Amino acid sequence: QMDCQAHITRDEYQTIIGVSGSPQQLDRNQIVGMPGVQQLLSTRTPFKRASRDFQSNSTEVVVGDVTIGGGRLVVMAGPCAVENLEQMSQTAIAVRDAGARVLRGGAFKPRTSPYSFQGLEQAGLKILDQVRREIGLPVVSEVTQPDLVSAMIESVDILQIGARNMQNYALLQAVGRSQKPVLLKRGMMSTIEELLMAAEYILSQGNGHIILCERGIRTFETYTRNTLDINAIPVLKKLTHLPVIVDPSHGTGRWDLVQSVSLAAIAAGADGLMIEVHVDPANALSDGNQSLKPERFEALMTALRPVAKAVGRSL
Ligand code: PEP
Ligand code: MN
Repeated sequence: QMDCQAHITRDEYQTIIGVSGSPQQLDRNQIVGMPGVQQLLSTRTPFKRASRDFQSNSTEVVVGDVTIGGGRLVVMAGPCAVENLEQMSQTAIAVRDAGARVLRGGAFKPRTSPYSFQGLEQAGLKILDQVRREIGLPVVSEVTQPDLVSAMIESVDILQIGARNMQNYALLQAVGRSQKPVLLKRGMMSTIEELLMAAEYILSQGNGHIILCERGIRTFETYTRNTLDINAIPVLKKLTHLPVIVDPSHGTGRWDLVQSVSLAAIAAGADGLMIEVHVDPANALSDGNQSLKPERFEALMTALRPVAKAVGRSL
């Protein structure tokens, strides 16, 4: 009646009714006087639906039989880009057998140079669809523009928004409308608050199936490709109910650093990882420098188990 939207969440102890719209229209006294109202709080944060003030219990994003954000960690792995059927299915089998539960692979690659490999595009989607059926893992793949969303929801299970597109608001609204799970990567020059405001665009379309991903930000340091912001993990876990995963491949840009940074991310409270794995990194069409060979990925998974256990998670 007050021309606002109400978002109801219940947990064991309380029911929170988040109200968004034009707060000046709210009669505070009338609300406080209603039976059952314990208190009326103004959220201090500009992100509303993403905030823990709106929803105290953690969101679990369910994709087939995989739950992201629960007690069990989820590792997503696969090549940077889909190159051909053989590369994709060999990598998929290797990562699945090592314990990955989501397969990654880009069909549309936003590259810094227009002369670099741009991805197999529609043919890549076909390969992803075939491989996910054969291997039995759900697939995450990047969507680069709004008019691709309808084609992609047929062949992938999670829509990835890349760092370069984190503030592409038309794209955020399009994936929001799709109601598909979304993996939202932090922009390389974006603050944590900007990441949460990007999530808010998706949430504002009624799509709450969002996984946030810290993938490194740009700093003065040039030894690594990016600087992985380990702080972002506990900060995000505190500010938002959305699950948080970490991409140490883009975070470091170097395969020899991926394992250490993966262990650190899990120790800091991440809900999972996204890791680039390639059967032949030396000849990869993109991001070979940061891609693990299957045997190194398997070693990483083995090293991860005791760290997961130490922080009360399973793998
Ligand atoms: C990727 O996941 O391959 C990718 C392009 O990542 P980002 O958008 O984080 O650079
Ligand atoms: Mn990549």
